[in-house]
Amino acid sequence: MSWKLSRAAVQLREQIDDCYPERSRKSDGALGDARHSARKSDHNPDANGWVRAIDITATLGDNLDETADLVEQIRKYAKRAKRKRISYVIYNGRIASPILNWKWRKYRGSNPHKAHFHVSFTQLADEDGSFFEIPMLGGNDERSQENGRKLGEDLPSDRTSDLSRSRTGCRCDCKCGSSISLA
Ligand SMILES: [Zn+2]
Repeated sequence: MSWKLSRAAVQLREQIDDCYPERSRKSDGALGDARHSARKSDHNPDANGWVRAIDITATLGDNLDETADLVEQIRKYAKRAKRKRISYVIYNGRIASPILNWKWRKYRGSNPHKAHFHVSFTQLADEDGSFFEIPMLGGNDERSQENGRKLGEDLPSDRTSDLSRSRTGCRCDCKCGSSISLA
C-alpha cells in the first residue's frame, strides 16, 4: 500500500534538518516496520495511507542536553499552539500529551525512547505543513510573536521585511553548531 507522511511531520523534520544538517539519522523513522504493524501505531498508514509519526535520532548536536532542550520546546509548542497539530511526544522514558495538559508522564511502553524521540501528529495536521514556531528551529515563541506583531505594525516597511525574513528558517537564532557544556 502506498503511504504518505503527514505534511506537518515533513515540515518539522525539515526544520530539524535545516538546523542540524550534520545530524545522525541512524534512528530516524517514519513508516513502521513489521514489528510496528502488529500493533496500533501512528507509524502505520491509516485507511487513507497517512502516517502520522516521526522518529528523530536523539544525537542532534554534541550532547544530549541539546536534544532534551529541543524536545522540551516541541512539547511547549504543542501545548500552546492554538491549532493542535501535535498529538504526543515521547523521549527518554517520558510522554507528554493533552492528558494532564502536556505535563511529562512516565512512559510505560517497551521501548523507553532513548536513541530517538517520537512525535505523533493529529489528523488536523495531515495537509498542514505550516512553519513550526519553535525557537531552536528558527521560530519564535508565543511572547516574541506578539512583540513581533506589535513591532511590525509600528516599524517602517523595510524593517518589517527583515522580521519576516528572519522567520523563514534557521538562520542565526538557533543553536546550530553551538554546544552546551555538560555540568
Ligand atoms: Zn516512533
